[in-house]
Amino acid sequence: MNADDGGPGLRVTVVGGGVVGLTCALQLRRAGHRTEVWSADPVERTTSAVAAAIWSPYRAAPADDVLRWGAVSLAALTALADDPASGVVLMPGTVVHRGAEPVWWASAVPGSRPATADELPVGAPAGTRCVVPVVDMGRYLPWLVEQCRSAGVVPRSARVDRLADVPGDVVVLAAGLASGPLVGDDSGFPVQGQVVRLADPGLTDWILDEENAGGVTYVVPRGHDVVCGGTAVEGAHGTEPDPTVERDLLGRTIALVPALRGAPVLTRAVGLRPGRPTVRLDRTELDGRPVVACYGHGGAGVTLSWGCAADVVALVGS
Ligand SMILES: Cc1cc2nc3c(=O)[nH]c(=O)nc-3n(C[C@H](O)[C@H](O)[C@H](O)COP(=O)(O)OP(=O)(O)OC[C@H]3O[C@@H](n4cnc5c(N)ncnc54)[C@H](O)[C@@H]3O)c2cc1C
Repeated sequence: MNADDGGPGLRVTVVGGGVVGLTCALQLRRAGHRTEVWSADPVERTTSAVAAAIWSPYRAAPADDVLRWGAVSLAALTALADDPASGVVLMPGTVVHRGAEPVWWASAVPGSRPATADELPVGAPAGTRCVVPVVDMGRYLPWLVEQCRSAGVVPRSARVDRLADVPGDVVVLAAGLASGPLVGDDSGFPVQGQVVRLADPGLTDWILDEENAGGVTYVVPRGHDVVCGGTAVEGAHGTEPDPTVERDLLGRTIALVPALRGAPVLTRAVGLRPGRPTVRLDRTELDGRPVVACYGHGGAGVTLSWGCAADVVALVGS
């Protein structure tokens, strides 16, 4: 089966089957296009599968677009929290402020407010309290794949070396960190992130401490486990967990959430966030054919996925 079976709409090939490519493919199909997704890796081996994943605009720019894309995604993920199969839940939590300024994106989250003293971890001077979607990627990505399949998106397991090799009236390039080299763009870079997942002692809140003196630190409970992070090392390409890094990050997370002390380690992972000075989302021509680029989402690919997919659908046109 392929997407070239006639019918209305354009024939669109999405290169990349992480959270960004799959969301674009689903929305393109829903807009009436005959859509294929070409992906080099199974979904469980993508960077997307490593994400914590909390709605939070981390390491992505430009700010205005990020807030706009983030707001669309916030609404979409909030709606998905009504479907237990999606793996999305709405969860309260605290963003810790170590500096003078509150978190820059707080105004984008309805109901956000200053944290009270009893909502702050020991030693934290201030914080913002809000309810945001927490996305269990181990459940959400297979759910997204199934949504694509049942909508009629055709999956292909294939590594693309040249965009000229893929079929379609329009190509959508959403291959994360691997996107730039396919269009001669060398501005992308990895932002390595390590996590360790502990048994969940029954936590009800997430906590995010980007300004921690020891490095970005977060705790995201998911019921069956708690994602503890993290790191953000620009330019590092390794994907093997480092025991020294793990010891340090566990020290920071237990300092924030003492209930984690002694919780067994279940799994560990390292992912390479697709860093770029700004997210690339535009339409160009390559070999006489439109290419819509959608990559470079840094630490916010889940947070921006639905908003970016809406812009991709608009740029593909009809
Ligand atoms: C530790 C960690 C924690 C994170 N936490 C969060 C969080 O809390 N919230 C949040 O919003 N984001 C978070 N992120 C960031 C998020 O994971 C990324 O922004 C997001 O996964 C990027 O998605 P993507 O689809 O662009 O890329 P990827 O998930 O990397 O997918 C790329 C796809 O392209 C395919 N591909 C690559 N090369 C080719 C090729 N040549 N041909 C065909 N296919 C190809 C791959 O197989 C894959 O399917 C986190 C990341 C890390 C590492």
